[in-house]
Amino acid sequence: MIRQLSFALMACMLVFADVAVAAPELKALAPGVYAFIGGEGKTNSGFVVTEKGVVVIDTQGPAELAMLLREKIKETTDKPVTHVINTHYHGDHTFGNQYFAEGLIIAHENTRKELVERDEGHRAMFRKFFGQESLKSFSLTLPEMTFTDRMILRHGGRTMELVYAGAKAHTEGDIFVCSQRRRYFSAETSFITEGSRF
Ligand SMILES: [Zn+2]
Repeated sequence: MIRQLSFALMACMLVFADVAVAAPELKALAPGVYAFIGGEGKTNSGFVVTEKGVVVIDTQGPAELAMLLREKIKETTDKPVTHVINTHYHGDHTFGNQYFAEGLIIAHENTRKELVERDEGHRAMFRKFFGQESLKSFSLTLPEMTFTDRMILRHGGRTMELVYAGAKAHTEGDIFVCSQRRRYFSAETSFITEGSRF
């Protein structure tokens, strides 16, 4: 089990190994819904702008990418970040949490658990792929609100549904993030709108 999981983690991070050199692109998926797409298939994030604030989905890993995501949000809206959602625990999706810590951080209970229990090996794996200095200013910033099955976030005129994908997905805590009945974000984030995938 542990071996299988570490392979999954390795596969994920291998895909994203040279993320620092790829230029991410910001793409509007729908009014107020944006994808921050990692270049050449690298780590994706996203954000949803509501009337009250911004909900960030996955915060990237390397500090420079987390800060770039933050800049893109600022260029898009003057609304503050109010919530952060982590789709799973892998560092390339969660280690940027500290740069968005003014938002309430939400994840599946297993994601929080994996971040805590796998911390040491997880950091070692992250350093292996992103460089020994990549966690120099890192501070583990954990989800503050967790759920186990399904959660509905109603905020600033939008309704977002967070749905657990089951323990046999990419990690033990994968979730889908849906808005207005469309699924936009998931672990190893896919962007799906009205049946099309890109
Ligand atoms: Zn992953």
